Amino acid sequence: MENIQQLLSPFPRADLLAQPTPLDRMNRLSERLGIDLWLKRDDLTGLSMGGNKTRQLAYYFGAAQAQNADTILITGAVQSNYVRTAGTIAAMLGMKADLQLEQRVAGMGAQYYASGNVLLGKLAGAVHNSYPDGEDEAGADAALHARAEYLRRQGARPYIIHLGQGHPPLGALGYIRGGAELAGQMDDFDVAVVPSGSGATHGGFLTGLRLSGVMAPVHGICVRRDGVQQLARMDRLTLDIAGLIGTERPFGVDQINVWDGALVPGYGQVGDKTRSAIELMLRTEGVLLDPVYTGKTFAGLLDLLANGTIKPGQKVVMLHTGGQAAVFAYQDELA
Ligand SMILES: *Cc1c(COP(=O)(O)O)cnc(C)c1O
Repeated sequence: MENIQQLLSPFPRADLLAQPTPLDRMNRLSERLGIDLWLKRDDLTGLSMGGNKTRQLAYYFGAAQAQNADTILITGAVQSNYVRTAGTIAAMLGMKADLQLEQRVAGMGAQYYASGNVLLGKLAGAVHNSYPDGEDEAGADAALHARAEYLRRQGARPYIIHLGQGHPPLGALGYIRGGAELAGQMDDFDVAVVPSGSGATHGGFLTGLRLSGVMAPVHGICVRRDGVQQLARMDRLTLDIAGLIGTERPFGVDQINVWDGALVPGYGQVGDKTRSAIELMLRTEGVLLDPVYTGKTFAGLLDLLANGTIKPGQKVVMLHTGGQAAVFAYQDELA
């Protein structure tokens, strides 16, 4: 941790997390599944229903504050937890939030556009803009730049949180800390399972664990792209993360594990597999997962158990990254 603190010390960080998140043993599920299952509760980071984005945004808001910005611009899916959390943190720090919502998921009903994270962002006083394309990261970023230019002419001091690759992956620094935090709570687990979307969580977590001397395999469950694309993305991203903190990547590409068997039917869409994983967790442990990320992650964990990657009796940590606000936006898909 000392080494990690030193590597992270050049990067300003907004102090948003008061204490380590809990690490809870899932007693009933452990017995039922024949493993020793623990949840790292990053759904309990606080701030408008919590989640992993608080750790990531701590570094973006730290940079924004260091530049004396007064308005945050960010882009994401309509039901993005990232965008919602940024809206909340902006309110907390006395800044304005300009949130761009992309049309990434087709065929959704009215709840999707009005409830869940959209509602929370509006309650927090954020401005919402819409972007028509959900697959064009460079285009979404360009739209943020155009918007920032407009706001600058009105006298604002904007700070842009980019979506596309090619920008310093500041958010991953939050998960280097997250990995080190888990290592401080427990370092003898056999396997970790995390969602892998943009990859900031997966890449930061793996880096933080390795820098802490924890060598357990970390399986990234694909929630957005297939395994081939995600592996290439994670390879690049983890090299960028190491470059950002000025060190060698503390692992080879062979230690990047991705599993896309729980991705069906696709990003932001709920299939039977996701729904039954959510039900199993809630009905056995009383812990709520979300339809876009953690439901798929737990479904992926069950796949890895079924295919022998996770072995009976092993100590397994799943990272619960939050996202429950979206449950209400997915009412039609979950009911
Ligand atoms: C964004 C998000 C993820 C994925 O995290 P990345 O860092 O983008 O890979 C996982 N879970 C939840 C709840 C999220 O909001």
